Amino acid sequence: MARPNLLFIMSDDHASHAIGAYGSRINTTPQLDRIAREGMRFDACFCTNSICTPSRAAVLTGTYNHVNGVTTLDTPMDNGLVTYPKLMQAAGYQTAIFGKWHLGHGSDHDPTGFDEWAVLPDQGLYHDPDFHTPAGRIVVEGYATDIITDMSLDWLERRDRERPFALMIHHKAPHRPWEPDTAHATMFDGEHIPEPETFWDDYEHRATAARVAEMRMMDLNEADLKEPVPAGLSHDEEVSWRYQRYIKDYLRVVASIDDNVGRVLDWLDEHDLAADTIVVYTSDQGFFLGDHGWFDKRFMYEESLSMPLLVRYPRLVEPGSVCSEMVLNVDFAPTFLELAGIDVPSHIQGASFGSLLSGEIPDDWQQAMYYRYWMHQDRDHNVWAHYGVRTHRHKLICYYNDPLGKPGARGPSAPPEWELFDLESDPFEMRNIIGEPGQKEVVQELRLLLRRLQDACGDEPIPGG
Ligand code: CA
Repeated sequence: MARPNLLFIMSDDHASHAIGAYGSRINTTPQLDRIAREGMRFDACFCTNSICTPSRAAVLTGTYNHVNGVTTLDTPMDNGLVTYPKLMQAAGYQTAIFGKWHLGHGSDHDPTGFDEWAVLPDQGLYHDPDFHTPAGRIVVEGYATDIITDMSLDWLERRDRERPFALMIHHKAPHRPWEPDTAHATMFDGEHIPEPETFWDDYEHRATAARVAEMRMMDLNEADLKEPVPAGLSHDEEVSWRYQRYIKDYLRVVASIDDNVGRVLDWLDEHDLAADTIVVYTSDQGFFLGDHGWFDKRFMYEESLSMPLLVRYPRLVEPGSVCSEMVLNVDFAPTFLELAGIDVPSHIQGASFGSLLSGEIPDDWQQAMYYRYWMHQDRDHNVWAHYGVRTHRHKLICYYNDPLGKPGARGPSAPPEWELFDLESDPFEMRNIIGEPGQKEVVQELRLLLRRLQDACGDEPIPGG
């Protein structure tokens, strides 16, 4: 069998609950749903650190952030690290990346392992963006999501047809500031988008970190809202107005991704490449879509922790299949390598989920995952440093509340606090049951498990944690 092509589409901040195939109540995504219908939907794909730069480094290297050094937004990736594109390139794959990079710029941080690349500087722009390329800066007129797709299809047209390709189409969208293109600018006008179940969360039964986070609707700024708040609204009316303003732009930007994914899928069909190409759609982390009254991410709560993951590969994957086993962002690199028939280096910490794609569950497959957010009191949203463990049933979070001198983390520290959630009885994580009767044994077990996972991946608990 010929080596498969890899077409890896990653968006930025696209939460699963804004994808039709995941049961979205607020939008439709017919093209993304095509990947799910013709492939596999993963219902328990998690990031190990819910923020752009660190999650991208984990995806590329297959290692945790304390190992690859990319713990925060202020720690660019050392491009001397081993990444899956480098290994695929060395094994004869044609490789390219277009779109979001966000791992730093300059000779130590520019993309490496790619035959061709054009990436947005840092966050990049939605309209008439400039791109950083090996030949310098170029400005391209148009809309970022369309342009990134155009560049990708152009590269595919020019590729050597005798060798397999690995192409990364990494969209800026739907990252803040959610600027739609003209085609979708009036989508949802006059409609009311339902507020999520936890929209009016008052954080009563939770740790201090949830109460002090600055990512509520009232924290959206003028650039986010793009128009003045109407006069005469009560506080609650304004909160609801801000949600409509925010979520409609977010979904408009998503709609453009969906259209452009359709263009790529059509191109594969037209060139008879669908059978031999692994198509992957994911996002670097999840996002709060008004859940808990928030936008943004960073927390270990479900909406932010979960990554959408849709994989189509007709030679291996049963159409319309669903996988509820846990897979992590560190598992992507070893999976891509294994499917390409390339040996996975022993330093890679993630595990290939190639067998899950073929419908087999290895006996020793992971039943728990480790998470860590390092940017204590980050400058944008004041989320506090935490780590934790999630099993299929429970989640234990330790807010250790200490910057530990990390770049992008700020003082002062605060006493640690713990949260325990039963995800079966409380899927929206509204009630921290850490101190409730009958939970002592569960907490003990989870603390041991947390320590074991930290040991296994080489991270260190805080003193007493
Ligand atoms: Ca992101």
